[in-house]
Amino acid sequence: MGNQKIHLSSPHMGGTEEKYVQEAFDTNWIAPLGNNVNEFEKQVKSYTGIRAACALSSGTAGIHIALDLLGVKQGDIVFCSSLTFIASANPILYLGAEPVFIDSDLESWNMSPIALEKAFKAYEKKGQLPKAVVIVNLYGQSAKMDELMAICDKYEVAVVEDAAESLGSKYKGRMSGTFGKFGIFSFNGNKIITTSGGGMIISDDKELIKKSLKKATQSRDQAKHYQHSEVGYNYRLSNISAGIGRGQMEVLNQRVEQKRTIFNRYAKAFENIGGIEPMPEMENTLHNRWLSVFTIGSSELDIRPSEIIEYLAKFHIETRPVWKPMHMQPLFEDCAYFSEDEDNAKCLFENGICLPSDTKMTEGEQISVINRMLEVLK
Ligand SMILES: *Cc1c(COP(=O)(O)O)cnc(C)c1O
Repeated sequence: MGNQKIHLSSPHMGGTEEKYVQEAFDTNWIAPLGNNVNEFEKQVKSYTGIRAACALSSGTAGIHIALDLLGVKQGDIVFCSSLTFIASANPILYLGAEPVFIDSDLESWNMSPIALEKAFKAYEKKGQLPKAVVIVNLYGQSAKMDELMAICDKYEVAVVEDAAESLGSKYKGRMSGTFGKFGIFSFNGNKIITTSGGGMIISDDKELIKKSLKKATQSRDQAKHYQHSEVGYNYRLSNISAGIGRGQMEVLNQRVEQKRTIFNRYAKAFENIGGIEPMPEMENTLHNRWLSVFTIGSSELDIRPSEIIEYLAKFHIETRPVWKPMHMQPLFEDCAYFSEDEDNAKCLFENGICLPSDTKMTEGEQISVINRMLEVLK
């Protein structure tokens, strides 16, 4: 193997993307809307079984619009998973609201029903329930949706499902992203499929998606002249990007299979080494294994993830720590946090490592990653 870098997760075209982009050129449907956008939305609807979808310029834009339509405003509280990428939480700040972070459980690595219930009880006592709950499906593993939805339903608070990393995953046979009032997908460059940058907001409530489309196009009223009654954004996906999305949707199931194959190779190679454990896949769920993630137990292995990351980087192998939890971020140091008895999110951050999960990686390249891992773990 030469000096070719092995990536964590990079864009992987299926082959038909250029055809759809060319179509946009041929019809001069370069911007902003057109057939590719409509077809891309249709594909995501039929793939997930959701009734309505609106293509956007990013996943972050989707979370922003969802929270806005749920009425989140200055002074409101929004509960949000702590163990996530910051894009889950930033839109709460855009709207002037205050995030309250919720710990993970160790079975799903996602929002803990126990910690969520604690937070609801505390804020009920204060007489200020949250306006929304943002639930993340980390690295492709679905959160415990039955338990979490039951709690949110009891308090009558709407859920925004951040499925940016979990397109193609399933929870009890149902597609990830379809559980909340709104679901959000991301097509950023490192995600399981990409439009070079983009996102989608989905819902079974067609009215809400109509409103999302209006918000995403500067909230223009139905009038011959330019008239606006509420704040809007410029968040629509371009017809060029949507062309890439159309081709990518055709290979999504293949990508899920490939990601799972990559994960299984790692899991098998490490199964007899004490102290290295795979991120779980809960019973009755399908984990898309967007990234292959493992934890390095500090009592069994005398090495920390940061040292492994440094070692593999010498061989041009890209690895990453697990997301730094939001409650540990300087930006959110004044925000409340509800954990289980132990701070699980912090523990997963300190012990977790994301291994190369690039579907363009050859089996030989992956074996060299495994060999370097075995070397460094000795
Ligand atoms: C990537 C990501 C987002 C944001 O998506 P963008 O399209 O990059 O704006 C949101 N949440 C999570 C958990 C993500 O990983």
